[in-house]
Amino acid sequence: MHSTGTRVQKHIGDPVSDTPPVDYDALQEIFDDIQSDIRYDHELNGCLNCGICTATCPAAHYYDFSPREIVQLLWTENLEGIYDAMQEKIWACAQCYTCAARCPFGNSPGGLVMLMRESAIKQGMQSAKDVLRPFTRVMLKLISTGNQLAPDMISAEHFPDWGPNISKVDAPLKALRAAIPMPTLNTTATAWEVNLKTSVELYTIWEMTGVLDQLQTIDENLFDVISDIMEEKREDYEDWLDEQDDDDD
Ligand code: SF4
Ligand code: SF4
Repeated sequence: MHSTGTRVQKHIGDPVSDTPPVDYDALQEIFDDIQSDIRYDHELNGCLNCGICTATCPAAHYYDFSPREIVQLLWTENLEGIYDAMQEKIWACAQCYTCAARCPFGNSPGGLVMLMRESAIKQGMQSAKDVLRPFTRVMLKLISTGNQLAPDMISAEHFPDWGPNISKVDAPLKALRAAIPMPTLNTTATAWEVNLKTSVELYTIWEMTGVLDQLQTIDENLFDVISDIMEEKREDYEDWLDEQDDDDD
């Protein structure tokens, strides 16, 4: 099935509210990118348009968002609709996968949303930049340590925006800490102290899987900061390896 929508100019990355439609080839390129992902055929097998996914979707209760609509857009290859959904709607999904457990076709609407999000990031869409901007600190920690949350962070001091609700998780903190098997992950002081070799391997994974390229498209400053940290750690690691060689001689 193919889109029959109008084919007038639009610039990728512009918010949908104040932009005209995108060039057809660009729309097709975005859809091809989503569809070419190895997960696509596992997550979309057909669609009855029954709405079970939307009825069970928590995000659909609170936002102008419907997994049924997302699946239908992809199933019918509605290129303009797919592009429009990528400007706002796809970011409402909570990635809980309740929809995937209920769909009679075995589809995973949440998984398809994830593919659309990844494509939005790759395309450097403004919606992806806007959504990810508040998470710069989290992304920095996650990419530089592989971990951004330790149980000792679950405190009123770290989450002032939770207000009195923090007491619900603050109280059983001992139990939460005990549930984490490795003592090294129990506090920020230890969880964020990553072994040099592990750090270098982590950066290499981010680099080789294209994560850093994607980061560069959405946040050039964060990319620069991480590249500097990475370079420094790689040099430290090389020095450490040289020292080991010297000791062996
Ligand atoms: S994705 Fe599945 S549950 Fe949702 S409308 Fe289509 S067939 Fe129904
Ligand atoms: S994964 Fe997303 S689309 Fe599916 S039920 Fe959860 S919030 Fe809704």
